[in-house]
Amino acid sequence: MAKNNRRGCHISTRGGYRAAAERAYALGCGSFQYFPKNPRGLGLKHFDRIDAARCLEFCREHNIASIAHSAYPSNLASPDEGVRMRTASSLLNDLDIAESCGSLGVVVHFGAYKERDPLTGYKLMIATLDYITERWQGSCRLLIENMAGNHGFMGMTLEELVQIRSLCREPDKIGFCIDSCHLFASGVWDGGLEPSWAQSPAGLAAREHVKALHINGSVYASGSRRDRHALLGEGELELSGIGWLLRHFPDIPAVLETAPGADGTHLGQLLQMKAEEEGRG
Ligand SMILES: [Zn+2]
Repeated sequence: MAKNNRRGCHISTRGGYRAAAERAYALGCGSFQYFPKNPRGLGLKHFDRIDAARCLEFCREHNIASIAHSAYPSNLASPDEGVRMRTASSLLNDLDIAESCGSLGVVVHFGAYKERDPLTGYKLMIATLDYITERWQGSCRLLIENMAGNHGFMGMTLEELVQIRSLCREPDKIGFCIDSCHLFASGVWDGGLEPSWAQSPAGLAAREHVKALHINGSVYASGSRRDRHALLGEGELELSGIGWLLRHFPDIPAVLETAPGADGTHLGQLLQMKAEEEGRG
């Protein structure tokens, strides 16, 4: 695989951040995603800054882009103030780690809010984002990810991503991460080529702020609002659609969040991704 490609997969940080970067390189990845800390909780991590600096150095040397994925309990729009504050602290910690590792952003799911008044959910999310960006002066961005709709209605559309970002006090610190499975399962995309969302006002407005892609197949149908990643080429989202998405966002870091193939690695899917992108799938 060409060394300047921006395609890769999620990589384990077993052995540290530098070890993760080396693992990505060995797989031929031009980008990778990692968990900066335990993704199952919002606890803070006192990380090894020397290891992080060595990760940054390795990635620069080999022209590898990286993104960090925030912890799963994060909820920017939680009705519980304690959860919102712990989410903010956790994300500031993630940003610090990611910046030290040389990563371009920290992916965070669009907020979830299931109470009666939907507007409150959006307001809470904006307030939490403002709280974080006010306290963050680095160049690493928060990357808001679109949702499949399995955690409520929020964050399924590109309009919401664009609107939330533009209503924040410091939008320059915020970008987007588009997940192919979520875009499909939400019903925004039917998996077809040249889809209408791409040419819609929101699609056009979102495009320049998309800084990362999650490339996943979908076990369930478009519009099912069920989030289960399938291996590339399996499930309901066809490979031709994935190829189109990659070509629509050239040079944007795109990482697989799928299970490894039969050989225990992502090598096969990485090659599939490249072949589809080049239109020879
Ligand atoms: Zn994702």
